[in-house]
Amino acid sequence: MLALQGDVEEHLAVLQRLECEPAAVKTAAAVRECDGLVIPGGESTTIGKLMERFELTPAIEELHTQGKPIFGTCAGLILLAKEIVGSDQFRLGFLDAQVARNAYGRQVDSFETTLSVRGIEGDPVRAVFIRAPVIERVWGECEVLAEFGERPVLVRQGNLLGGAFHPELVGETRVHQLMLDMAR
Ligand code: GLN
Repeated sequence: MLALQGDVEEHLAVLQRLECEPAAVKTAAAVRECDGLVIPGGESTTIGKLMERFELTPAIEELHTQGKPIFGTCAGLILLAKEIVGSDQFRLGFLDAQVARNAYGRQVDSFETTLSVRGIEGDPVRAVFIRAPVIERVWGECEVLAEFGERPVLVRQGNLLGGAFHPELVGETRVHQLMLDMAR
């Protein structure tokens, strides 16, 4: 669990309910010890600046090239994306996706809904959107696992999982389980 800024505790609470040993990490050495990484929601510019300041990018790139699962929610998704509309802010740029920050518009700035997610059986997945990014388009190997309206809101590309919403704020564990299932 990347613990630079954002809703780290809520993610840890979900991970503690699953079969894994979550740890809050904020140094390159600690990142290198991980079998996977969750990048939380928060403020993508702040998390990005801290990633640069603490020189975490090479360590996160190593996890990625080793095929370890990386799950970004909201700000975390923005940091994973290759393209961010109208912004040159820092990003990891692993995911074949274009996102637009805060693009759900004022009326629906924050909202809760349920989603049907490919690969998750049973009840619909509860999802909270908070000043969420819109996934404008995906390409290459990036596949859409869930949509809200016409737009992708959960995508997967190999070992990468990106969600525009927060499953962790409503006690939803199945999206994190999906990430754990991606571990080789
Ligand atoms: N609006 C934030 C950003 O652009 C993301 C919001 C969130 O993570 N809930 O970074």
